[in-house]
Amino acid sequence: MIEWRDGGLIVKVLNLTRDSRSAYTSNAYLVLGNHNALDDLNTLVDVGRDPLIIDRINEAPTGVGKHRVEQVVLTHSHYDHAEALPLIREAFHPVVYAFSASLEGVDNILKGGETLKLGDRMFEVIYTPGHSNDSICLYCEQERTLFAGDTTLIVQSLGGTYEEGYIRALEKLCRRDIRAIYLGHGEPLLKDCNRTLRNTLRNVKKSMEWLSGREGK
Ligand SMILES: [Zn+2]
Repeated sequence: MIEWRDGGLIVKVLNLTRDSRSAYTSNAYLVLGNHNALDDLNTLVDVGRDPLIIDRINEAPTGVGKHRVEQVVLTHSHYDHAEALPLIREAFHPVVYAFSASLEGVDNILKGGETLKLGDRMFEVIYTPGHSNDSICLYCEQERTLFAGDTTLIVQSLGGTYEEGYIRALEKLCRRDIRAIYLGHGEPLLKDCNRTLRNTLRNVKKSMEWLSGREGK
């Protein structure tokens, strides 16, 4: 069973591994255009590690006369997000984008700041180190939607240390207007996204201030 994600958001985002039971896997989102136009780019955001994804893609309504998967964008290279890449490449021959240069099968290296078309929407690539040093998020201004991978977006308590790059990335995300966040694991975040991000940034900054105050003594 494929779950359709609608609710006024991007009409066609399918979470292909949502009912996966056989393997610990990230979500793998297939982003399709609204009308399956020929120039829409059917795109997988992460591929996960469950081989069943091949069947799910073959069952998906990807449009007549179109490649089922034109491109793959990896949010980062952790195995639970990327392990099925060789299978996907063999079955669908997509163009593969990722920040990591060390992962086999990546055609185009992202640095952050690029614009990519997913389905029929334009997305901004935002470099968000922290969870891993090759993490990116994908933001669509038109839909106010973010694909976040495993980038930590919810920090509710004080304490812990955070690197400078992560704080800068959070500041960048806080300047966007976001109403839906597709996470690397679990269900999407569909309310209070902006407030959640601002709270997280505040907690992260306070934690670091507290830490540097302590070090100064
Ligand atoms: Zn990860």
